[in-house]
Amino acid sequence: MKKILFTILALSFFETFALAKEVNVFSARHYDSDVQLYQKFTDKTGIKVNIISGKDKALQKRITEEGTDSKADLYITADAGRLGAFASKGMFQNSLTPAIKAAVPSNFRTSKWTGIAKRARIIYYSPERVNANDLNGMTYEDLADSKWKGRIVIRKSNNIYNQSLVASLIKNNGKKATAEWAKGVVANMARDSKGNDRAQILAVAAGEADLAVANTYYLALMLSGKKGAEQQAAAKKVLPFFPNQGDRGTHMNISGGGVLKNAPNPENAKKLLEFLLTKEAQQHIVNNTFEYPMIDGVKPHPLVKQMGLGFKQDLETKVANYGKNQAAALELMLSAKWK
Ligand code: FE
Repeated sequence: MKKILFTILALSFFETFALAKEVNVFSARHYDSDVQLYQKFTDKTGIKVNIISGKDKALQKRITEEGTDSKADLYITADAGRLGAFASKGMFQNSLTPAIKAAVPSNFRTSKWTGIAKRARIIYYSPERVNANDLNGMTYEDLADSKWKGRIVIRKSNNIYNQSLVASLIKNNGKKATAEWAKGVVANMARDSKGNDRAQILAVAAGEADLAVANTYYLALMLSGKKGAEQQAAAKKVLPFFPNQGDRGTHMNISGGGVLKNAPNPENAKKLLEFLLTKEAQQHIVNNTFEYPMIDGVKPHPLVKQMGLGFKQDLETKVANYGKNQAAALELMLSAKWK
């Protein structure tokens, strides 16, 4: 009898221990390198990381539907607009610890979620067809200037990166001015919006347009050769330009994460977030994803460095605005007949 009781106690102790030693990450980031990173965390802490990866909508649907039964501890995705919209449904709990607050500048986080890496959404141009002088002092606002008529490619209005960019313009210039701006941009498009960010860069390389809007890490990814020799060659035909250097700085976005409201292991999730913001983890992230580090003292990948460092980032416009202004951004793009 004693032996049985002991076994039961030992088992339940083991179970509690096992439960406390894991964290369930629902991730919309699809990088093999993230798996290696989580392994490093496990090696350090003994906390096992279970990764459930999928598309954003599917992951969010599952977390929402499973409610209090959800096993999800940490939701990781790209774009502050996505995190903000999910947060507005009350899906996160306070995710910040003193270490996270100390590591991440306040414009790149809220109390519910934090950035873990940065990206800029910038302009790419053909140095054959665009004189660098024409870009001098150029802003996102200038994309609506009629001198670019028929020369710009940018993806569809349903794309979250565009929604966040436009949301930042609403924050800075107001809805009315941004609605006018969107009409100007649509009038300047070289074609109806289609394709992903890399497709926009490829269009400029192929001579279909002179300017493209796309995130920074895509050019580095193409230059790296990981997307094949053809895209590598195309990437060499365009140059990056960082807008709004004369005023608020270039539009920045994040990939990031937050601890979910019904997380069974919230403390482990916070520990993992803290780990992702250490120098070691940041170096691993930027080496593999070509993003910018969230913390100081970590160097981006050489291909990203080569695109230009020292540019002025927009640190005034809090990324929390992207979720807030998302609906308004989409609405005004659609009104402007932005596909
Ligand atoms: Fe992306």
